Amino acid sequence: MSDVILVLAHTEADGTLNEAALDVIQTARSLGDKLAVGLVGEKVQPLRGVATLCAVEGPEFTQPRYATDAAAAEALCRAAGATLVLAPGTSRWTRALPGVAQRLNGRVDSHVMALEGGRATRWFYRQRIEAVLTRAERPWFLLLDAGLPYEPRDGEAAVQRVSVSLPPLRTRVSGFATPKTEQQTIRPDADLLLVAGAGWTKKQKDGQTHVAEAGKLILGFLAATRASLGSSKSLVDLSGEGQSVLPFLSHLNQVGQTGATPRHPKGLATCCHGEEPHVVGWRFIQERRAVNLDPNCGWARGKTDVLYVADAFEIIARLNELLRVT
Ligand SMILES: Cc1cc2nc3c(=O)[nH]c(=O)nc-3n(C[C@H](O)[C@H](O)[C@H](O)COP(=O)(O)OP(=O)(O)OC[C@H]3O[C@@H](n4cnc5c(N)ncnc54)[C@H](O)[C@@H]3O)c2cc1C
Repeated sequence: MSDVILVLAHTEADGTLNEAALDVIQTARSLGDKLAVGLVGEKVQPLRGVATLCAVEGPEFTQPRYATDAAAAEALCRAAGATLVLAPGTSRWTRALPGVAQRLNGRVDSHVMALEGGRATRWFYRQRIEAVLTRAERPWFLLLDAGLPYEPRDGEAAVQRVSVSLPPLRTRVSGFATPKTEQQTIRPDADLLLVAGAGWTKKQKDGQTHVAEAGKLILGFLAATRASLGSSKSLVDLSGEGQSVLPFLSHLNQVGQTGATPRHPKGLATCCHGEEPHVVGWRFIQERRAVNLDPNCGWARGKTDVLYVADAFEIIARLNELLRVT
């Protein structure tokens, strides 16, 4: 039995759709022509080239809020009788659709990269395993990370307004708070990845730890080079052990087997010994160097193009000086 396909999308302030939503519509078209689109927003604009266009409209639906997003999606899925529901993998849909799948006794999958013949492709385990999924259960919700390039088509569908009965709303979005750009230490587009290891927080040659100085040196280097900051697991785990930590690091900075595998052209590991950061964490880095006091650090020696056997405190302090001069 062929699926009834519904694409869900939030509208922009002017009622139109952004590129990610349009690309999901194009992906849905590749699965079948009987396509319904369900829009959610304050107001919607007519959309050309789709068979059915349903909309949940109103000022309550402008704010990213689970209660209203889930209620709108549920109403649209029921109105369309959808069995296959596609949506862009935005933070709003990623938060709301698992609950809607539960309400409709369906299933949900996220981070879908491609859809072909009822099979969804996604990566698992940080792009190490590519899986092709099918499911017998319906409705099947798919949150897409990527879609096909949108091609406009002719033919206007009349907008069918769908009414929603909302529960009492307790959540109000009062604004957005984001860290200042200079406080962001993860910069995927940077030319250089600086990897900081736990050595930055260990006792140094004077028998003392120098965590505050380490923090200043690392942040100074990042400010001067606009490099991205990666960390070993040991370093980000320290906070859980009650030790002094570098406050700007979180598990999001971690590189390695259980962390990220970023793709910067160059990498510089400092105070880092671990196998995972050196072997897995920067396997996509093209040019790799490391600074370590230990000439026998097998991972640094074996996996870097150049190992500087030196004190990273001194090296980074000197580099910061030079970077300020030029
Ligand atoms: C299942 C599993 C998954 C794991 N996944 C990950 C992962 O994803 N990512 C990860 O990072 N780890 C991972 N680990 C942990 C990993 O095996 C290592 O324990 C960890 O990476 C070590 O961290 P480190 O190199 O920062 O610290 P350490 O091993 O403590 O090394 C500190 C280094 O700093 C050097 N040093 C100290 N002072 C200075 C100085 N002044 N100048 C220069 N060098 C100095 C020392 O010589 C030493 O080599 C995993 C482990 C397991 C079991």
